[in-house]
Amino acid sequence: MPQAGGPTGTRLLLRRLRDVMAGGGTAQDRLNKIVSIVAADMVAEVCSAYVMRPGEVLELFATKGLKPEAVHKTRLRVGEGIVGDIAAHARPFALAEAQSHPNFAYRPETGEEIYHSLMGVPVLRGGRVLGVLVVQNRTPRHYTDEEVEALETIATVLAELVASGELVAPDELQPTEGIGLLPVRLEGVALNGGLALGLAVLHEPRILLRQMVAEDPRQEMERFRGAVESMQSALDDMLESSDFADGGEHRDILETYRMFAEDRGWLGRIGEIINTGLTAEAAVQKVKDDTRARMDQIVDPYIRERLLDLEDLANRLIRHLMGDASPAVAEQLPDDVILVARDMGPAELLDYDRRRLRGLVLEEGSTTSHVAIVARALDIPVLGQVAGLFRRVEPKDPLILDGDNGQVFVRPSDDIRQVFAESVRVRAQRRAAFAATRDLPAVTRDGVPISLNINAGLLIDMPHLQDSGADGVGLYRTEIPFMIRDEFPDVAQQAELYRKVMDQAGERAVVFRTLDVGGDKVLPYWRGGTEENPAMGWRAIRIGLDRPMMLRQQLRALIRAAAGRPLHVMFPMISEVGELDRAHRVLDIELARVRAAQEPAPAVVRVGAMFEVPALAWQLPELLRRVDFLSVGSNDLRQFLFASDRGNPRIAERYDTLSPAMLALLHQLVRETDAAGVPLGLCGEMAGRPLDAMALIGLGFRSLSMVPQAVGPVKTMVRSLDLGRLQTYLSDIQGTVVSSLRGRLRAFARDHNVAL
Ligand code: PEP
Ligand code: MG
Repeated sequence: MPQAGGPTGTRLLLRRLRDVMAGGGTAQDRLNKIVSIVAADMVAEVCSAYVMRPGEVLELFATKGLKPEAVHKTRLRVGEGIVGDIAAHARPFALAEAQSHPNFAYRPETGEEIYHSLMGVPVLRGGRVLGVLVVQNRTPRHYTDEEVEALETIATVLAELVASGELVAPDELQPTEGIGLLPVRLEGVALNGGLALGLAVLHEPRILLRQMVAEDPRQEMERFRGAVESMQSALDDMLESSDFADGGEHRDILETYRMFAEDRGWLGRIGEIINTGLTAEAAVQKVKDDTRARMDQIVDPYIRERLLDLEDLANRLIRHLMGDASPAVAEQLPDDVILVARDMGPAELLDYDRRRLRGLVLEEGSTTSHVAIVARALDIPVLGQVAGLFRRVEPKDPLILDGDNGQVFVRPSDDIRQVFAESVRVRAQRRAAFAATRDLPAVTRDGVPISLNINAGLLIDMPHLQDSGADGVGLYRTEIPFMIRDEFPDVAQQAELYRKVMDQAGERAVVFRTLDVGGDKVLPYWRGGTEENPAMGWRAIRIGLDRPMMLRQQLRALIRAAAGRPLHVMFPMISEVGELDRAHRVLDIELARVRAAQEPAPAVVRVGAMFEVPALAWQLPELLRRVDFLSVGSNDLRQFLFASDRGNPRIAERYDTLSPAMLALLHQLVRETDAAGVPLGLCGEMAGRPLDAMALIGLGFRSLSMVPQAVGPVKTMVRSLDLGRLQTYLSDIQGTVVSSLRGRLRAFARDHNVAL
């Protein structure tokens, strides 16, 4: 007799289930038959199927072995009992002694007290838990991994029955909260700025599979191989497409993605499942559901991105298997598409018609999401981490995506729509006006020149240097390319990247900041463990000094890339002068190496420090003797000055960058750097807000670095500013005891026609 859980056994069982599924009777009849067959096949006294009902409740829908009167009566909340736990974590459970488990919830109506062991698996579809399938045995029994896998495969078939909408109404499977059609405003994290109006297109790559159980596994294997080949060649075509031929990180991402399409582990796993008797589509779907279930438990952003790539590939492969290689939403797209997804892989985004794509909203997603990086290359606004998004938005719902303020309006009222439509129009006009200032100098009305620079972190940011007419790159955040790679880039790879950045900048200076990783910015291939306060933890230069090889290699790559050109290096998170000295020594060693080897050295090397940690304020004379420039990282400075987490939305607005305390500290910096003759700049987000930038210039800052889109508005402000008057005004109001001087500065701007 074939062993339960062995491939042949599972295959036979699946055939019987297929016959039941294809047979007559109600869905309930079929479910009753299924649990009986599974119980017999798994040599279990009990097999029960629980189905998810509204309100996150699991209802016993069918059982073989428990008391029949419990059916449709026994209900467990998600998280309650072992069954609820399986649903809550979307993971299987196998226990020889279930009753002694702390989560065991006894339900007298079921008569289950006589059963000792229990094995249960989630019924998963498209990442959603639709139910739980359980077997129980009277004697304490150890279920093998193969048996768990066999039950999971059966659950895949069951998922189709539940999803067919015959057991429960289909809309029950699409939970909505409250009245789904009221206008709502949802908040998220801005992953790319901008404003977009359009209609929601739900990225629902889930495809209804026509057949789950195979007629002939050998034939399935052939189909599978054919589909893999056709998918691989279609991906090659996508990579060849002109938009992505010119390199950049988004190209790297797509290439890594393409490599996954040949991943032996992934393909092998699908092959194994086909061998158990599922169709090729069902096997891919099963591996995809397993991936999704794992993903829900993974917080590591790198691993999540990889799993997401695999999910994207799985959808693609299913479409190739079904002979429909076109994207999931090839049907009529509206003219203005705002794509709504739980999360998506980078290539899935490219399946949509780029001419219609206006924005992207994700329930998950982070700044380093592959899809966000590709979306930036397409220059559309992106909002991530919008909780509850997917269940609140219906297809074709009108949406307003406000990427600058991290919000999306779902089914906005007419007035809101009009306000934003007007805002889009005004923005387009202003953008045209800013573009016209591109070649005009950033000089105040009373003749003081201000250097305006951009912050960058990816090669795709570099063209903005030209478009914006900025003087240079005031902050190049080197960590981003490190975070999206599979392994630590070697010196040659780093040098190649930095060389491209410098080439694109031409005559304009680029300030390269050494790696600011650690804490929450994890490098996938190297980690320092979790920390309670990552922002104040082992990060940036602290890691660089404790692991000098990383820093040395980065500096070596920068020196090599500069060869004959000026090199500007900036060290982040310096807290004491000694740290700068040690970092400088590493740089000197590398410079000496180059000279000794008679390799081309940089024409000149300028070394700077970031001012982000308040303790530096009391070390300025010593610090300023050692640096060629100083740049204020106002994002971190504000968080450390006010002990206020910059990533926590509850307190994000609580302490203002234009508070008297912050301005007093910045003023002190201006005075001391002026006295020492050291150039001072500021590269935090405040530099890009025209009113904040006005205050900074009033305090004496002459160099600012900001997001590229801000250069036009800040330049327009500068050109309308009478700096002498502002200085007088500032010295009058600086001692005021208020939490922010923003209101007064705004009043000054209004009274003096400063263009904000
Ligand atoms: C800052 O802290 O202001 C800064 C520019 O660095 P980052 O935002 O990368 O921490
Ligand atoms: Mg910082």
